[in-house]
Amino acid sequence: MSSALLATSPAEEPVPFCRVTITPEARAAADRALAGGWVTTGPEVREFEREFAAAVGSAHAVAVSSCTAALELSLRALELAPGARVLTPAMTFAGAVHAIIHAGLVPVLVDVDPDSLMPRPDHVASAASRCGGSQAMVVVHFGGAPAAVEVLAEAARLPLGRVVEDAAHALWTRVGGRAVGSISAATCFSFYATKNLPIGEGGMVTTDDPQLANTVHRSRLHGMSADAWRRYLPGGSWRYDVDVAGLKANMTDVSAAIGRAQLRHLARWQDRRAEIACRYSRLLSQIPGIRLPQVGGDGRHAWHLYVIQTTPELGVSRDELAADLAAAGVDTSVHFIPVHQLSYFREALGDHHGLLPGTDSAARRVLSLPMYPAMTDAQVDRVCDAVADVAEAGVARRRVARGAVSA
Ligand SMILES: *Cc1c(COP(=O)(O)O)cnc(C)c1O
Repeated sequence: MSSALLATSPAEEPVPFCRVTITPEARAAADRALAGGWVTTGPEVREFEREFAAAVGSAHAVAVSSCTAALELSLRALELAPGARVLTPAMTFAGAVHAIIHAGLVPVLVDVDPDSLMPRPDHVASAASRCGGSQAMVVVHFGGAPAAVEVLAEAARLPLGRVVEDAAHALWTRVGGRAVGSISAATCFSFYATKNLPIGEGGMVTTDDPQLANTVHRSRLHGMSADAWRRYLPGGSWRYDVDVAGLKANMTDVSAAIGRAQLRHLARWQDRRAEIACRYSRLLSQIPGIRLPQVGGDGRHAWHLYVIQTTPELGVSRDELAADLAAAGVDTSVHFIPVHQLSYFREALGDHHGLLPGTDSAARRVLSLPMYPAMTDAQVDRVCDAVADVAEAGVARRRVARGAVSA
């Protein structure tokens, strides 16, 4: 942790949406990997996989280049027929739906509950019947909140072996008493710069299924036989086989070394995220027109995102709130623009107008506030003060408008 990040920032300093923490240990580890001379996939990756599997309680972990690649490789490893239908929430990241398409499968968009921002069992059941039955499903733990994986699988009439979890937000999440990482066929994590374990880029597939782990392991590096990287070691052989159409999606030893060092800080970072969420909820609960994120759900929240929603009571729209906060020096973001509102997917999947009402309504109201372990209490307070200022101005504006009408 760099000490500059811990210093209390003066009230007038802007609050960025995200600030990535790369620890001194991670920098030293990257140096070590570079000095070791291996650089690409090697012993650091193997150790990172071992340590990560232990952290999430899975039998296997396979490191890859991104969560998007993890999703594609996991879906390919299910060996579904080309064109098989895969349920996915419409309220997700575009890359997660590209992964389905690039695996040769057909995404079927599922509506979400506007409060939890995740599909309910009835949403899943109705999407499954709308498309005449699905062959697999991607479950997203939105923002780090626990999704009831087993209940949703049942609603889709799918065995857990046909479910892939998008856990890009959910390193540290528990569903019931169980860590996300070994519930479904394959769980996919992200080490993108903004995620809970930042490396910069990177991903991981975890599973209890040795065969699936082996398939993903081969597929991540051109489908070459498992120990292909050893072929350049002394005594290694140049012979290898290719038995599947693989991807180039391996992780480098430099990334893995950074990941291993960062992993040692995860518990502390997660404690801080939970504290920040608590402070936000306490301070924002006083403000009319702001709906807090649902803490409910059975399990543990990883607080990757802190997503508020505007209600009509606020007097201004979400877009106006975001603009006013930016003007006050507070950066925010929106997770997500639902995929069916993006032009490529509108073209590829057809017009979903009116079919996803929960998603469309939430999409107009969600706003992600800054949330990262390096955030200070003073910065959290500053964000909440700025939101309160906007709400107060909204009340004043409505009073004026009412006055104008009654005059
Ligand atoms: C970030 C994200 C991804 C993609 O992760 P990458 O590692 O950048 O490929 C997938 N799904 C969700 C929900 C995400 O937020």
